[in-house]
Amino acid sequence: MSAITASFFDGRTPQRQAVELSIEDDEIIVRGAFGERRAKRAQVDISEPMGRAPRLVRFADGAVCEVADHAAFAAWLSVAGFTESAVVRLQSRWSWAIAALLAAILTLLAAYFWGLPAASKILAPRIPDSIVESISKHTLSFLDGQLLKPSRLPEARQAELREHAATVLTASPGHPPYRLHFRASALGPNAFALPNGDLVVFDELVALAVNDDEVTGVVAHELAHVAHHHGLRQLIQSSVVSFVAGIYLGDISSIASGLAVLAMESSYSRAFELEADAYAAQIMVAAGRGREPLASMLERMEASMGGEGKGGSSWDGLASHPDTAERIRRLRAGT
Ligand SMILES: [Zn+2]
Repeated sequence: MSAITASFFDGRTPQRQAVELSIEDDEIIVRGAFGERRAKRAQVDISEPMGRAPRLVRFADGAVCEVADHAAFAAWLSVAGFTESAVVRLQSRWSWAIAALLAAILTLLAAYFWGLPAASKILAPRIPDSIVESISKHTLSFLDGQLLKPSRLPEARQAELREHAATVLTASPGHPPYRLHFRASALGPNAFALPNGDLVVFDELVALAVNDDEVTGVVAHELAHVAHHHGLRQLIQSSVVSFVAGIYLGDISSIASGLAVLAMESSYSRAFELEADAYAAQIMVAAGRGREPLASMLERMEASMGGEGKGGSSWDGLASHPDTAERIRRLRAGT
């Protein structure tokens, strides 16, 4: 196992000592003039990158190692089997940073002229397909590596659900292209949409549904988020804040981290959810399936999550939103 050079502070005196950090099995080892100290991996805290500030490895007794070389440290962490947090990995993708920067500059200009929500509504559909595709693809493969597992639904069952959704959707033309994916997750019954039309439904949602109309109701709701560019609009609106923070801190990577956090924790505004419900209702009614499948699916999802987002799932906020009861009422009332 390779070693990396670092500065060591014992936590009691301000004295800096040159050391080498290495890892053996599940222990981090610091070797220097004082000899050697070991700590279990789980008992050290590793700071996230903040601009050019050194990364810190903090020990339980207050001792700290400082590592100045970010690239070498990241390489060492990965060789040592540490995984950087989700946000950190996305931060380091330059394509995210550039896309975020462009989006933020355009947004600031547009916001100046039109106001932010209006600006994001105008800009979102104008983001080039290649960027939308790239952001979406990165997000999905990233989530596949971190939080999602391959679906346990048999291929034939997946095909059946895709066929069901396609049949319902053909009754009302004019939808954006989409691809329906299934994944297993520990995040409860839910679904989410990526801006390029990749829709992901969790096995747990399929298991919770009493019929395929309920699953398709959710698919139609997710497709609405794509059709109305909700994801990108929310991304643009939120990125302004990280953009200003990024400029202030002189740190472009914080802009990218704003995007990454949003992509992963996005829960749409109440207005977007109502708009998506209305779009889904229209699709379901046009196909003669009515509004009830989505209403009852939402009801069951909310119940399974313990209401108001207590289930730890923040994907789409599909049924984890405080306004779910109102959405169910509206669907049933047809308003
Ligand atoms: Zn939604």
